[in-house]
Amino acid sequence: MPLLELENVTKHFPVFGGVFRRMVGKVHAVTEVSFSLEKGETLGLVGESGSGKSTLGRSILRLSDPISGSIRFEGKDLVSMGARELKHTRQHMQMIFQDPFSSVDPRMTVGSIVEEPLRIHGIGNNETRREKAAELLEKVGIQPESIRQYPHEFSGGQRQRIGIARAIALKPKLIIADEPVSALDVSIQSQILNLLKEIREEMNLACIFIAHNMAVVKHISDRIAVMYAGRIVELGESESVCQDPRHPYTKALISSIPVPRPGKKNKKQILQGDVPSPLNPPRGCAFHLRCPHVEEICKREIPPLNENKVHPEKPHWVACHLQ
Ligand code: ADP
Ligand code: MG
Repeated sequence: MPLLELENVTKHFPVFGGVFRRMVGKVHAVTEVSFSLEKGETLGLVGESGSGKSTLGRSILRLSDPISGSIRFEGKDLVSMGARELKHTRQHMQMIFQDPFSSVDPRMTVGSIVEEPLRIHGIGNNETRREKAAELLEKVGIQPESIRQYPHEFSGGQRQRIGIARAIALKPKLIIADEPVSALDVSIQSQILNLLKEIREEMNLACIFIAHNMAVVKHISDRIAVMYAGRIVELGESESVCQDPRHPYTKALISSIPVPRPGKKNKKQILQGDVPSPLNPPRGCAFHLRCPHVEEICKREIPPLNENKVHPEKPHWVACHLQ
């Protein structure tokens, strides 16, 4: 049984307007997303800003209600789960954010931030929780004496380490990391990615790693899912997606990764136009307005996510009529 299984997960936000505040439309943030995640596996979720990555991450934790479709964690459906069971199940799933403390009271010390999940779930007493917080900080490379300091006294990279310490306090089975390194300098990014890799291996953690940049997800993911306008348009093993991308959108994302070797140039494919309006998605394939290969069928029919059998030993799915 996979650790996590999503089937046709859809999240549309109603939009109200007019004098009577009637529903005048819907933001199609996430539409019919299906995938599964094995224990200990990392799935990279990549796509431009506004493609629905955060909404999908929040939907999995049911931070964004109501959702349609099914989300099973260890076989249990989270969508229909009651509040008590949900609280219990959420212990096993944690989220890491771009700014780890944006929603935390600035008067809380690092120690109380890291031990808060233990306190919420009634684990241990004040003394054991303090010890645990110091131990967790040490694990992520922060001086355990820092428990009495405040987050604003730390750099961006250190704050992200503290965020990770808090996320692993309850020994979760799944971490959803939403752009955890997007705000950091490139040199710090790789330190945080390495820390996440180490911790993931040591704790056999499954991870959904969200980024808007293919270069970041490439090295940390076992598989990659590419999102465009709320749908998954390509899904496959990391190597297969990066070396042999099939969807024109994935090709464009990959061509925008800078090549470090001097003299060697990527043939850069600049994407024309913007992400289509999620309030009024175009008919057919959402990418057709920007696609260099567009044909008549693309303007009429939404392409299903089909298995691409070019490399039968490497399962790879693509939503494109021209594949
Ligand atoms: P990403 O994380 O890929 O940048 P988001 O999931 O944040 O994308 O957003 C997807 C779409 O859903 C965007 O068009 C965004 O404006 C919209 N959206 C996100 N949250 C809400 C909300 N609470 N209410 C209405 N629309 C929202
Ligand atoms: Mg986001």
